[in-house]
Amino acid sequence: MTVIRRTRPERFGALVATESPAALVSVDRVLARRLGVDGGTLWAEPAPRERVSVLTGPTEVHLAVTERCPATCSGCYADARPDGAEPELDALRARLDTIAALGAFSVAFGGGEGALRDDLPALVAHARALGLVPTLTTSGLGMTPARAAQLRGLAQVNVSYDGPPGVYEVVRGYRGAATAERAIAALREVGVPTGMNVVLTRASLPHLEATAARAEALGVVELQLLRFKPSGRGRLDYLATRLTPAQVASMPARLRALSAQHAFAIRVDCAMVPFFADDPVISAEALARFGVIGCEPGRSLATVDVHGDVRPCSFWRDRPAEPLTPSSWRDDATLGAFRAFAASLPEPCATCALAPVCRGGCRIVAGALPRGEEVPDGEDFSPDPECPRVRAFRAGT
Ligand code: SF4
Ligand code: SF4
Repeated sequence: MTVIRRTRPERFGALVATESPAALVSVDRVLARRLGVDGGTLWAEPAPRERVSVLTGPTEVHLAVTERCPATCSGCYADARPDGAEPELDALRARLDTIAALGAFSVAFGGGEGALRDDLPALVAHARALGLVPTLTTSGLGMTPARAAQLRGLAQVNVSYDGPPGVYEVVRGYRGAATAERAIAALREVGVPTGMNVVLTRASLPHLEATAARAEALGVVELQLLRFKPSGRGRLDYLATRLTPAQVASMPARLRALSAQHAFAIRVDCAMVPFFADDPVISAEALARFGVIGCEPGRSLATVDVHGDVRPCSFWRDRPAEPLTPSSWRDDATLGAFRAFAASLPEPCATCALAPVCRGGCRIVAGALPRGEEVPDGEDFSPDPECPRVRAFRAGT
């Protein structure tokens, strides 16, 4: 039987978080009422007709718990350093309090290298006490068997692993594959569901099948593929590091082959949706059914950086948003710019079947690419310049 963990009224009905299976689903007002949800003043007006309405708060918040990391990976999106800033535990607890008060369901701890914080278990416990589901992304540094045992409260840990030994160090400029593998083993040993994060670059993609085979051997529950983004040190050599158009075009078929071969779940990140634009089989409905989430800042996602500043997403280095409150979530100009773009997409996104999930692709990429050449309108808020459909549209083909 499905166990309901929490509900949150929304204008359309409610969001319902279930325990087993773990999921977050939207239900209309009729079903919400049957589940005992009281919509109060939110339901005073008729339910919104648009398919994707603005939520009353984020469902997930990414919380950077440190900017410190000794690994010095060449493409680090956060520009993390050995002497990076690190907030006090009490400051992070207060940020968790704010996130919970906004009604978020989950918090994703990131960094820097969060596993090197001795007080990470206390943060996990605080998140759980607030009813938040905490997850962590780590390179594996600091994830000793003892530390893993203290982190059983995490719902999932994803370990960064951009290729097996011999590939990893070429891709990241840091010899970390063995550390990552030890961390995966330690986490699995104590029963923490453990996934693998693979950032797709020109150098890592040719080894994707070998990486997936290693993931299976290591026993992960999920292989998450992430698009490389021009953020932090990732801006330095972005044009030579990003996937080529031919590599992008190969993605749907490769993912189908991988999912047929392996038992673990394959997940793609928010910025990968445009890579499916040309696929004749994949639809927005299918992506939504499998829980694929596109560019969601201001709709379901927000980030709190290491200084406590609110960002639309973890890769956004431009102007911060207002501190998180119910009214700033609704009225903040930066979050509002994401919503406004998604609500009135220009061509070729306006007529794209994937637009309800994709929402125009990645703003970080659109904001960082050369003006004039790949971003002819010169706007951060313009269609994703690496989307095959956008490329074809701009080339007039
Ligand atoms: S055309 Fe626009 S909405 Fe469609 S997949 Fe490409 S970037 Fe996304
Ligand atoms: S701008 Fe959107 S698609 Fe790009 S990384 Fe941020 S949330 Fe993901």
